[in-house]
This record gives sequence, C-alpha cells and structure tokens, in this order.
Amino acid sequence: MLLLVDLDGVVYRSTEAVPGVASVLAARAAAGDDVVYVTNNATAYHADYVPRLAGHGAPVGPDRVVTSARASAQWIRDQLPSVRRVLAVGTSGLERELREAGFDVVSVGHAATRMNQEGIDGWAAAGHPDVVVVGLDPQMSYLRVAAAADCVRAGAVLIATNRDPVFPVEAGLRPGAGAVVAAVATASRTEPRAVIGKPGPYLLELGARTVGADVRRGVMIGDAMSDIAAGKAVGARTILMLTGVTSRAAADALAGDDRPTRVAEDAAGLEAALGELAAGGRD
Ligand SMILES: [Mg+2]
Repeated sequence: MLLLVDLDGVVYRSTEAVPGVASVLAARAAAGDDVVYVTNNATAYHADYVPRLAGHGAPVGPDRVVTSARASAQWIRDQLPSVRRVLAVGTSGLERELREAGFDVVSVGHAATRMNQEGIDGWAAAGHPDVVVVGLDPQMSYLRVAAAADCVRAGAVLIATNRDPVFPVEAGLRPGAGAVVAAVATASRTEPRAVIGKPGPYLLELGARTVGADVRRGVMIGDAMSDIAAGKAVGARTILMLTGVTSRAAADALAGDDRPTRVAEDAAGLEAALGELAAGGRD
C-alpha cells in the first residue's frame, strides 16, 4: 500500500516522537508499503527532515518527503512552464526549494530593503517576478507585504503554499501561512491562483507520483480534518489519528462525508487499522 503520512501530530509533536508510530511505519515499509510524508510546513527544506525522521526510527529518504514548499515549486513547473523569476515570501527553506526547481528566486526581504532604500515600488525592487509564492514568513513585516502585493498588482501570479490559519506550538498557537497569504491577498485584492497544500489534493498526488503509485489506492494518515479532506479529494482511504489536534469528541461528532475510513487513538490503533485496510477492509 501507499501510505501518505502527515508529520506534526502523527509522527511527532514538536520535538517529541508520538510513541510507537515510527516503528509501525518501519514495519509496514519492511513489509513492502511505500511511505511518503506529506506536510503543509513550507519553512524547511525537504531533505532536512531526513535526519529528524530517521532519528525517530521512521523509514525515510529525501525523495519521501513532500512539503508544500517543494510541491509549490513543482506545481509552477507543471502548470506555468514559462515562469522564470519567482518572489519568495517565506523562509530560506522555501527559497531553496524554488531555486532547486530552476527558478531565479528573489527573496521578499531583499525586495523590501531595496524598495525602502531606493524609493521604488516592490515590483521593480523584486526585478519583475512572474510569480509570488507565499508561505509562512516568520519575518513578516509591513514592507514585505507591500513588496509582495505590488508584484501581484503588477501581474505576478499569486500562489499560496497553504492557507493554514494557525499551527500548534508548545505554548499554544502561532499564525500559519494562511495569515501571511491573507495579508498579501487583501493588500493586492487578489485571491491565490492556486493553494498547494492540504486540504487540496496536490501534495498527495505528488507524493504518489514520486513512488510511481496510484494515489487512489493510498491511505492518508493525519491528525487534522485537512488531512482527511485531502485524502478524500484524491479518492484515498483515510485514518484520523487522535495523537494531534483532533479530540475523541470531535472525531465522534463527524458525520457523513467528513468521516474518515478509520479513527486511531494511538500507534496500536494505527497498526490495527492498517492491518484491516491491507486485508481489504473498506467502509
Ligand atoms: Mg498534523
């Protein structure tokens, strides 16, 4: 089977491993399953997950991690083949993914600085990019939003890595990429042409393509309703893990099309659910 696995809230929670999940995945991989990780996180370079996941004992290689940053770069190559220059609103990890996909990448920090120092607009300061890709930008500032919005207003295509409003940290919640996208979309009065991450289908489709598998035969394993929605969007089966952001009460309250194929409390529940699905069980 193809296992499409979310990271935060499934394999680990911030720095702590979710007990037992990595070894369940390792056993499935040893038995012949393809394990691909699909994360909306657009801040880290995909290969940087390899030591971290390997450290938890999870089966992993650099080609088995699909982030919304890496997927955004691939989407532009697939859908907008004439694009050359991209303005990256986010981290150096996002910039690196775009650069490795062959784009001429301008960082929004550079554009904002030029704008300010030279008294020019963001479009000129960024060197007239064809596309603006917006992810989580921990350095978000008024000028950076201004530079990105200038480019979109001048005709650059706006792409969102994802629209997660928040993400969990130990102390609570922090604004996600969706908050940055909202600022750029509002200031440019333009909605993104594409939103790459979950709950959309593209991360999962790309993950399946990476290993030459049929995404409809896959199993999406995640802790959030956006994971389940993405799984359903591609026609895959879904396992909702209660190891992250979704409570038992919330899972029990799901009805109709929102219900996952299985709900798993923990690693033992995941192992049992995968065993059933592998044996052909399907609701
Ligand atoms: Mg998650």
